[in-house]
Amino acid sequence: MVESTNNSPVWHPYTQMKTAGLPVNIVRGEGEYLFDEEGNRYIDGVASWWTNIHGHAHPEIAKAIYEQALKLEQVIFAGFTHPSAEELAKHLLSIVSYHHKVFYSDNGSTAVEVAIKMALQYWNNKGTPRNKIVAFRDAYHGDTFGSMSVSARGVFTQPFQSLLFDVVFIDTPNGTNDQQVIEQLSAAIAKGDVAAFIFEPLVLGSGGMLMYSEKTLNKLIGVCKEGGVISIADEVMTGFGRTGRFLATDYCNNKADIVCLSKGITGGFMPFAATTCTQAIYDVFYSDEKSKMLFHGHSYTANPLGCAAALASLQVFGKERTMSKIGAIEERHAAFVTKLKGNPVVKQVRHRGTILAFEINTKEETGYLNTIRDKAYKFFMGKRIILRPLGNVVYILPPYCISSDNLGVIYSAIEEFLVTIS
Ligand code: PMP
Repeated sequence: MVESTNNSPVWHPYTQMKTAGLPVNIVRGEGEYLFDEEGNRYIDGVASWWTNIHGHAHPEIAKAIYEQALKLEQVIFAGFTHPSAEELAKHLLSIVSYHHKVFYSDNGSTAVEVAIKMALQYWNNKGTPRNKIVAFRDAYHGDTFGSMSVSARGVFTQPFQSLLFDVVFIDTPNGTNDQQVIEQLSAAIAKGDVAAFIFEPLVLGSGGMLMYSEKTLNKLIGVCKEGGVISIADEVMTGFGRTGRFLATDYCNNKADIVCLSKGITGGFMPFAATTCTQAIYDVFYSDEKSKMLFHGHSYTANPLGCAAALASLQVFGKERTMSKIGAIEERHAAFVTKLKGNPVVKQVRHRGTILAFEINTKEETGYLNTIRDKAYKFFMGKRIILRPLGNVVYILPPYCISSDNLGVIYSAIEEFLVTIS
């Protein structure tokens, strides 16, 4: 048992350490379950911060990491390469088939930093510097300064606001304003100083699981193409099947110039990321002049254990017919959505692929700090279900291996919770 938060030297992320209570000490995972030290079993309804896809401690991925570790655990990635990095890049480029290069890093925020720096240096290398990025008003792209800058100005970024660089924010499409959003993007691009448009495709995650249509996304990417502006798809959350297709941008004919991948890339096993780009972008860095190299790199770039985990995870997709599991979750969600829609305390029910979200009617201001969140979190934890609402937005985002029965357990718990607050 962890005795008390104050006695532990550990500082937890996105946690008010004074009021959050003791963290649950998880000692083991298996499939969609996590087990604490007392043997309690929890259903991981949020895929451990949206990372896990095939289940916890998946033996094939664990084995691949072990075998890689016995051969090579890490090597400087400037001047050196290794077989797993080369093989993984080929696999990733068979998924993002319209791209030609893969730049590795460590996490979602770094994948985004790389994308932003690639876009800005692209214009710089061309001798026509541009320094404006366009982003959605409710976006979330990470916690480092560049990724915070292109994220919503809100509760997460408020303490740092004066240090964030200027971004042109356009409204988040919501089904009623889509044409205006497209016009806002066109107008921003027309000014001539926009380097790139960055977006979470189809689902804005931390902003509250806000969803918009593939038709609008396709048009937005099209506007970038017509305007000669780089489009950056942040697929950190949506990648690897989360929205029902392998990538969320697979729903669109227009393709982004840069794609950011992380979270599910290793099946949720290793901190790892990749930023992929087109030949046209790469070519602007490919030069006899050293000053045109991409000025970015991390100690653990292309870490072999991360590469091995990612390769193993991609194999599991084939072996376990993961895309059909995703389809089955999607169908189950759709049926539950119909049920939820009749509930008077619920509004804005939405789902896409394996993600289901809805808002709870509340008299308080909506948003991340809404107090219904703590009530809901405690209620679900009492039932040994991990759901972590974003303010008054409750969502399910499970590992794809979750059983139909356990989806049913989550749905029933949600219905019970709604009764307690109505
Ligand atoms: N982009 C998106 C769309 C995300 O959802 C997240 C994480 N929630 C990030 C970037 C940042 O990823 P990380 O937490 O791994 O830095």
